[in-house]
Amino acid sequence: MVNPSPLTIVRYPDPVLSQRAAPIEDIDQEVRDLASNMVQLMYEADGVGLAAPQVGVSKRLFVADTRQSESPEPMVFINPEITTEGEQDVAEEGCLSIPEIRLMVPRPIRAKIRAQDLDGEWFEMETDEFPARVWQHEFDHLEGRLIVDRMTPRERLVHRKTLKTLREAYEIERMD
Ligand code: ZN
Repeated sequence: MVNPSPLTIVRYPDPVLSQRAAPIEDIDQEVRDLASNMVQLMYEADGVGLAAPQVGVSKRLFVADTRQSESPEPMVFINPEITTEGEQDVAEEGCLSIPEIRLMVPRPIRAKIRAQDLDGEWFEMETDEFPARVWQHEFDHLEGRLIVDRMTPRERLVHRKTLKTLREAYEIERMD
């Protein structure tokens, strides 16, 4: 039996989700433990990606498994830099930090990423479609950007009440 991940997912509108995360200077055991606990939590939550701010850690790291295969193949991206190209593609996205809302989000179809691995080695990858979307979504978290920050005025109206309820619930929780 594996113990449940010691981390929990931070929900909207926790301010840590709106902060720009800090670069990771030393890829030490603490960072490696964080990454491994995040991978475990991502699978527990049935997600395809998870960024450090989503577990309350404002550092530039995210994990993803976009292959959706039977056997887990998690990837860890530390201090990632992303460049995108191609036309915009619109697809539905959810977020583990705002499970109440799903939105149609336009994003460039191709993405190139440069990041450090758990040994501190830089690597580069290129992808398109679904994995490219996941990378961009997770990278947004490191910039303090959420899918709700990308809403159209119409979506803002549609989800107004839900977001208000979430903000109120957060305030009440903080007062306890
Ligand atoms: Zn998210």
